[in-house]
Amino acid sequence: MKEPNVIQKKTGDITIRVFGVDENKELHKEISEIANEAMNYFQDTIGPYPHKQLDIILDELGMEYPGVVTAGSIYNRLQKSPEHLKRTVVHEIAHQWFYGVISNDPYHDAWLDEGITTFATLLFYANQGNDTSFDEELFREFTLPVNLPLDKYSSNEQSGYIYGKSSEMLWGVFQENGGELKAEDFLKNYYDHYQYKEVNTQEFVRFLKYYLNLKDDDYFKDWILLENNNENLN
Ligand SMILES: [Zn+2]
Repeated sequence: MKEPNVIQKKTGDITIRVFGVDENKELHKEISEIANEAMNYFQDTIGPYPHKQLDIILDELGMEYPGVVTAGSIYNRLQKSPEHLKRTVVHEIAHQWFYGVISNDPYHDAWLDEGITTFATLLFYANQGNDTSFDEELFREFTLPVNLPLDKYSSNEQSGYIYGKSSEMLWGVFQENGGELKAEDFLKNYYDHYQYKEVNTQEFVRFLKYYLNLKDDDYFKDWILLENNNENLN
């Protein structure tokens, strides 16, 4: 990067640096602020961030790496409103927990990190007082389960399943089982239990059923393909 605008801020013992490459210094500052809020929220809600630094580089498409996230500001500038850019940054920060510390197969179980990261991002915005009411109707025509291998989805529907329907349906489960506080506590327990391990869909459902004390798979039948009915797909 050539002469980036760097904003450095310490939250607890973690240093967050924002690297801006355009002239919008006010926006870089706002991103630094929301990144600090997200870091505090996710640490309080989920568990400790595993590094001493987080670098946020605003010159690429949204992507997560351990300790580094990127989010676009010079590409697709017309499509990305400041709010969308901030939301992408919060999403990529949430990945530090779900992908960076709890791992999953990104091809066969892509929804596990993307859906849970999207879910954690929604909880952050809800905690900030934003309206995050969910609309199951949005995904009515998305009739496939969310945990198929990526090649089973058309490219224009893939993210609707992996990010959208998965987080929506997960939210639906918690709406009927304790709400936001319970969802936050679940993420804490999930992180505590599976950090530095690899999770798959079956194990995730097993843990969620245990945590919510669910007796059967009713909550999952419309959106997750569980192992015991695998033969239906072949
Ligand atoms: Zn993501």
